[in-house]
Amino acid sequence: GATIGIVGGGQLGRMLALAAAPLGYRCHIYAPGEAPPAAEVAARFTRGAFDDAEALARFADQVDIVTYEFENIAAGPLKALGEHSELHPPPRALEIAQDRLAEKRFVLELGGRPAPFAAVDDRAGLDAAMAGIGTPAILKTRRLGYDGKGQARLMAPGDADAAWAAVNGAPSVLEGFVAFDGEFSILLCRGGDGRIVLWDAPRNVHEGGILRRSTVPAPATFAPAIEKGARLASAIAEALDYVGVLAVEFFAVGGEALFNEMAPRVHNSGHWTIEGATTSQFENHVRAICGLPLGATALTAAGAEMRNLIGAEADEWPAILADPAAHLHLYGKGEARPGRKMGHVTTLS
Ligand code: ATP
Ligand code: MG
Ligand code: MG
Repeated sequence: GATIGIVGGGQLGRMLALAAAPLGYRCHIYAPGEAPPAAEVAARFTRGAFDDAEALARFADQVDIVTYEFENIAAGPLKALGEHSELHPPPRALEIAQDRLAEKRFVLELGGRPAPFAAVDDRAGLDAAMAGIGTPAILKTRRLGYDGKGQARLMAPGDADAAWAAVNGAPSVLEGFVAFDGEFSILLCRGGDGRIVLWDAPRNVHEGGILRRSTVPAPATFAPAIEKGARLASAIAEALDYVGVLAVEFFAVGGEALFNEMAPRVHNSGHWTIEGATTSQFENHVRAICGLPLGATALTAAGAEMRNLIGAEADEWPAILADPAAHLHLYGKGEARPGRKMGHVTTLS
């Protein structure tokens, strides 16, 4: 069988490698660190830095297809990957998703609606942005943020200094705070032939900027917003000639879908698909990048709920298994630092 190269060695790469095996593919992981979670379940592991274009080119030469689960690959190394192997999803999707400002502008052009926003390049720019957007608001670094990191909330104009310090003066965007009815994500997969399949859209609940749980089906009241979100996500995939799984996060507000952000990869809010859908997001991503027909995405039960095991919560895994219906996934990460995603548990209903 062919070899899939995966750039990034976290839990997403681990679950991709686990899904690739029954389809007859071997996975070769590229990541920094001694023994990243994905390396334990893959056929091969190369330790290397994400900014080492030469090492990434050599890695790409050794595999048949390259994909990524890590989002912050710089432009040069990304180009090297594409020149030395078949690369999916398209590098342009990654470049856009890496930069919150570029992402919002791209989505606006496609007719999508983000929360009110303004670019902030310096401290004076923050005052100008606040004059337009008001408070409450959220300041987010344009690049490198995840799990709510690189963000600061501004409840009043007096919070500006603290917020600017919290983002270390990095180029940022200020976003109006959205009083949402709830959050959901659209999970889709587009095949090499242009066919798009969508999973049921999960309702997502975050705590402290970190995904707490994802539940399908989402409340019926979300249906009009989900329909609009699905249209926008499909338009994004078409515009990018996308191949693979794409996740787009939305705020549901009175039947409207406000765009939050997108991820050009498999996504935490889609982990429930492993047991809760006929074909998981991981398997369909593998199928898509390998040019195979996509699998069905229907629910395998009336509903599913995925709960993240964050920090020390994963230490309770024997108690979780006391529920015979619980599907436990531990990521094999070393230290259970606070706020770190150590695993998840899915239950079907
Ligand atoms: P991820 O781990 O999903 O990549 P992230 O660090 O990129 O997270 P965001 O998705 O921008 O962060 O924000 C995290 C959460 O914070 C959102 O899911 C939502 O709950 C809340 N949030 C972010 N922006 C806003 C907003 N403009 N209004 C209200 N809540 C928001
Ligand atoms: Mg994000
Ligand atoms: Mg997010």
